[in-house]
Amino acid sequence: MKTFVRRREDFTWDGVPLLAYKEEPGTHFRQVTRQVLSPDSADFPAELRYFEVAPGGHSTLERHQHVHMALIGRGAGHCLVGDEVFAVGALDAVMIPPLTWHQFRATGSEPLGFFCVVSRDRDRPRLPTEDDLKALGANPAVKDFIRV
Ligand code: MN
Repeated sequence: MKTFVRRREDFTWDGVPLLAYKEEPGTHFRQVTRQVLSPDSADFPAELRYFEVAPGGHSTLERHQHVHMALIGRGAGHCLVGDEVFAVGALDAVMIPPLTWHQFRATGSEPLGFFCVVSRDRDRPRLPTEDDLKALGANPAVKDFIRV
């Protein structure tokens, strides 16, 4: 990873690997790509990533101690933060607090791309248990929204 990376027309960056997740049973995301834009340097205690969710796809439903700061870069969709679902579009900003369930979905006909800043030192994401899903499902808006 270099000091400067140039964006290409298609929301990829020169020299940055485009990591595509496989869609297999047991995985908890669908049609999501990830690119790490920040340098691999101890001088920068965070990482800046760009995720893109294809239409109909979704990120992992998860929570963790570390926080996310997300900035929508392109497209439109919805995101769950705690017990609220927000419609999001380009340049909307979303803060995910500690231990808060979250999920991004590209609910429209276009990809949902977002930048996400995260601490380099961070705990592993936790996936919902059956009990967690039951609790989440108590809120009808959340129950309809989440994908696992
Ligand atoms: Mn997360």
